[in-house]
Amino acid sequence: MKIKDVFLDGASNSPLDKRVFKAMKPYLSQKFVGNSSSIHDFGVKSSIAIEESRATIAKALGVKSEEVFFTSGASESNNWVIKTLSMNIIAESPYHTGHIICSATEHSSVIQACKEMERLGISVTYLEGSGGDGAVLCKDVKKAIKTDTFLICVMALNNETGVKNDVEAIAKFATTHKIRTLVDCTQWLSYGGNTLNLGKIFPHADYLSFSAHKIYGPLGVGCLIARSNVKKYLRSLISGGAQEDGLRGGTSNTAGIVGLAKSIELLRNDDLSVHYEYLYNYLTDRIGGRAYLNASPYHLNIINLNFSKMFNYDNLAAVLATYGIAVSAGSACDSEHNETLEAFNPSHVLLNLGLNEREIRNSIRISFTKFTTIKDIEQFIEVIHLLEEQNERN
Ligand code: PMP
Repeated sequence: MKIKDVFLDGASNSPLDKRVFKAMKPYLSQKFVGNSSSIHDFGVKSSIAIEESRATIAKALGVKSEEVFFTSGASESNNWVIKTLSMNIIAESPYHTGHIICSATEHSSVIQACKEMERLGISVTYLEGSGGDGAVLCKDVKKAIKTDTFLICVMALNNETGVKNDVEAIAKFATTHKIRTLVDCTQWLSYGGNTLNLGKIFPHADYLSFSAHKIYGPLGVGCLIARSNVKKYLRSLISGGAQEDGLRGGTSNTAGIVGLAKSIELLRNDDLSVHYEYLYNYLTDRIGGRAYLNASPYHLNIINLNFSKMFNYDNLAAVLATYGIAVSAGSACDSEHNETLEAFNPSHVLLNLGLNEREIRNSIRISFTKFTTIKDIEQFIEVIHLLEEQNERN
């Protein structure tokens, strides 16, 4: 029985804001057909729109325009830093040594890129954090550092648990050792308002990545922020034309970039923390003793709930989907690993928290958007009641 489609999976994708779509529309029409690299008026209009977008984003994030690089999203941005900084090391000498510290709970785009670099001779430490709920602290990094460490990958906010790592302290420490930091800020931006001022909040972070579609912008566009003093270490990951300061080939996605700038501009003026706190309190209240939190989220829009005391499903998220409730079992990007009932390929983040198989199978990530309502939560609770009744009957 399908109750109604209820979307509680905002950390995987958020709905496009109507105002963002409106801003993009002209660039999807015949009027603005120009390739931003072309010299004619059509092209120039496109290139002006891109540069204006870059300036808008830079201002909102508290960085310089020339530090903003457009990509297809956070996965590309993360790959770009990890692979091309590694390329520098590998190119230096055939007998190269180089070491990356990568937090064990990074997004798969970071972990997989590191694994590929391992095949080329770079060594990687997948670092488990000793802080609350596995948060990576500066002292963890200090212990893991080696003489040839050149990069630390540590995300600001975990996409499955909402746990915050001690990013600024780590980045500050890394700077003193001339080690670069990559900070995945994809989920960090969710609160909007002042949290968008990355330049101020993480002044020592070297490279910062994020995607537009998590913040009510379009799919397939995002940014890499590369601070002025470390831009020089980037190489082209996508070779081709001279777009993005000669560092990223490929025709620029004008409409997507304009949409990204609009979504950032809107979010900068929109503090969502109160809305999320209200929803979080309501949800945890209504859940009562039926589930417990796998971790305490720093941003209250990402809630990882463990129903293993009540249920024994193979995959609770998949069961909920049959009732029209959209939540996630781990990260959507890992879904080919863990959404199948037959193969148990658990979330590396929940494993890292020490959960057993039953707990992982019966844990779900609920994540809100600015459009989530109390009614959405009530419909979710209704389905949980239904499953509870079924369970009692069986
Ligand atoms: N990093 C984090 C923390 C994410 O949550 C995601 C999306 N799940 C990504 C990177 C990848 O973003 P995209 O798929 O837009 O490249």
